[in-house]
Amino acid sequence: MRTASRSIPFVDLVSLHGEIREELTQAFDRVVGSGAFTLGAEVEAFEAAFAANAGTTYAIGVGTGTDALHLALRACGVEPGDEVITADNTFAATVEAILMCGARPVLVDVEEPTHLMDLDAAEAAITERTRVIVPVHLYGQMVDMRRVRSIAQSRGIKVIEDACQAHGAVRDCVNAGAGGDAGCFSFYPGKNLGALGDGGMVVTDDSEIARKVRLLRNHGEDAQRLHVVPGYCSRLHGLQAALLATKLPHLEAWNRRRRAAAAAYDRALAGIPIGLPTVVRGSTHVYHLYVVRVKEREAVRGALAARGIQTAIHYATPLHLEPAFEQLGYRLGEFPVAEQLASQIVSLPMHPCLETEDVEDVARVLEEVAHG
Ligand SMILES: *Cc1c(COP(=O)(O)O)cnc(C)c1O
Repeated sequence: MRTASRSIPFVDLVSLHGEIREELTQAFDRVVGSGAFTLGAEVEAFEAAFAANAGTTYAIGVGTGTDALHLALRACGVEPGDEVITADNTFAATVEAILMCGARPVLVDVEEPTHLMDLDAAEAAITERTRVIVPVHLYGQMVDMRRVRSIAQSRGIKVIEDACQAHGAVRDCVNAGAGGDAGCFSFYPGKNLGALGDGGMVVTDDSEIARKVRLLRNHGEDAQRLHVVPGYCSRLHGLQAALLATKLPHLEAWNRRRRAAAAAYDRALAGIPIGLPTVVRGSTHVYHLYVVRVKEREAVRGALAARGIQTAIHYATPLHLEPAFEQLGYRLGEFPVAEQLASQIVSLPMHPCLETEDVEDVARVLEEVAHG
């Protein structure tokens, strides 16, 4: 048994980048030598590679995942007075992007045991004003996109996937981002594919959506440098694109290592009375997060922290109860599943450099807590 003093980080970007340090340095040197720092050839090359990877016709690099959602919503025509349906237990950015359009976020509860958007609730929340549904592929597992499309398409509602936690995920043979009208990714450093800074991407097969996002990300400027709409400043940086292009070919192997770590957790935690993640049939989970459910959360987190094992909560407050979204008028008790999950979930360390030994150490502590 290893000494208990070695800490286990929640994510470990230093080790991950250490594996490809040379490649990253070469990419950096290439960009410094090119002098192209916003958009340009490096961004175009990465967009092409990312589109091929996602299985879409277009990919448009933007400044952040939040901007990807905002600009995709705008490109789908979302405006004040419109409603956009999304899940209650997502990162705040999903709802912020809807508010940036002046539209109303309509939240729906999530379902057991996947913690993903309850699609019956989403269907029931549709009104005359619903313009878009934003399914969130939370933790790295996709929502049932066949069902989302069948709910939306017959009513003329667009579908924009929040795939910010799901780079490389697949469900029913459809890639994350390729199952709706547009898909949005974040390259925040800790995501499955992360920049060494911020970045985001919109993918789509729709040439109109692609054209509009391309305009909006760069001050509404077209190829003739005419400003055809009032836009935003949200360009992917050449340096980040070059670094991301270096990392993209490793994504599949890194996701495999995340799955191996998840399988090790599944085995090591099997005898302990805690709730483990559920993978639905036909779904390839990419484990951006490995989230378990426990009753005595503070005791569990305290015992893990005492051994130098970092944990986190995604998310401690369901969005309908966050002060920032009080204006939406939701009340305590409105989304019982999301509320209960928020009080019980813990995200355990999860990253491609997590070793079986680390997983066993985590499991040993959880077992000790469970058996007093
Ligand atoms: C990370 C994330 C975002 C936002 O991405 P940023 O790059 O931080 O703007 C949006 N939605 C979800 C579900 C995320 O996890």
